[in-house]
Amino acid sequence: MYAFDGTQLSMLMNEALARAIKDQGSLTVCVLDVDHFKLINNRLGHQGADRLIDALALRLAQYVGGDSVVVRAGGDEFVLLTHDAADDAALQMMLSVISEPFSLEGERVSITASLGVSRYPDDHAEADGLLRHARQAMYRAKQNGRNTVSRFDPGQDRLVQQRQVKRRRFARAIENGELILHYQPQIDMATAEVIGFEALVRWKHPKEGLKAPDSFLPLTEGTQLETSLGEWVLRQALTQLGCWQQQGLVLPVSVNISPSHLLNPDFVPRLEGLLAANPWITTDRLKLEVVETAAMHDIKAALDTIDRCQAMGIEVAIDDFGTGFSSLTYLRQLPVDMIKIDKSFVRDMLTDPSDLAIVESVIYMARRFDRALLAEGVETLEHADALLGRGCRLAQGYGIARPMAPEAVVEWLQRWRERTDWQGLARQSRFMGEREAPSGACSR
Ligand SMILES: [Mg+2]
Repeated sequence: MYAFDGTQLSMLMNEALARAIKDQGSLTVCVLDVDHFKLINNRLGHQGADRLIDALALRLAQYVGGDSVVVRAGGDEFVLLTHDAADDAALQMMLSVISEPFSLEGERVSITASLGVSRYPDDHAEADGLLRHARQAMYRAKQNGRNTVSRFDPGQDRLVQQRQVKRRRFARAIENGELILHYQPQIDMATAEVIGFEALVRWKHPKEGLKAPDSFLPLTEGTQLETSLGEWVLRQALTQLGCWQQQGLVLPVSVNISPSHLLNPDFVPRLEGLLAANPWITTDRLKLEVVETAAMHDIKAALDTIDRCQAMGIEVAIDDFGTGFSSLTYLRQLPVDMIKIDKSFVRDMLTDPSDLAIVESVIYMARRFDRALLAEGVETLEHADALLGRGCRLAQGYGIARPMAPEAVVEWLQRWRERTDWQGLARQSRFMGEREAPSGACSR
């Protein structure tokens, strides 16, 4: 069997597809690639490997027969076209036929192959599209451990492509300055003092309006975009700190850092670079919030980075505590400055006894590990009262303020001082001496 070149193959494909369309039938395209062919080549030498491929070609031709056609498409790749059903059993059968040992001049040689499959009309592509998709599936079969079959899934492929388009659009949003930061206050409920702001990203989409992070953060997961976004947020937050400082407003800002960004080997040097570009911002004004997830698998690297940030004077908090990968070991290993209890527990703590139990346990744990503790999702004064009574002083949530544009912050701070409800809670807390929270649960 001589190898078909691209033109011959595409003529063959076009004919086969035309026939499937005319007969209202199907066409299955199978790309078959010998596994570890380089190793076989090294072992048998060029001529030996050629003989093996010839023997394989012969075996495949005998196996398929009938209405099907198999051609060699160069190297160790074969393309099989069939109008038959080609179900999983038939394809598995083909793999086992391939793996039966060959006898080459007295030597027994065993090989395996990976099969990628596309099928018209499930996949409504042109002939060259069908071939490309079968080849894509074959690469997936290789990734899945070889000696296996992988079918091209048009629905899945469309999703992947749509995601790619959205990702490229989001990358442009970063470059075009379509992102903005909103700021949510964090307070000490025992004094009603504002202790800082969390920077939260929003996308000011020119057509779709202001988009919440839920609608775009998942796009960034596991991609380089996590780092680009994280760096943009850091740069923007530092610029904002500079602006506020000129207005006489000196409060820290917390920035959310994704695990993959934190684990990026360049993280610390690049952060140092950003800080050096803003020499008027002292490092105690920038805080980092890190979510605990399974992505923190490389605990040693995370530890090292957190250590280096703290050595620079930047505090680090564990964010959304209790939702992800939380374990006591994790908490013991990560020398974070603050724990943020996830809002899902805080929100329902007044009505759900098990959420209350979790909140109380985290308060106890924070005290034992001597970490500052902040409750997210504080929606009402009742929440605040219940938390304060249990020794959790720091809070953030809609009951205090929603995230706001940076221009709104100065005015909000003025109005905050006039909020009799929160000021009253603080007064009452000072009055009740026993409410003086233990040092571990205080703001530092
Ligand atoms: Mg956060």
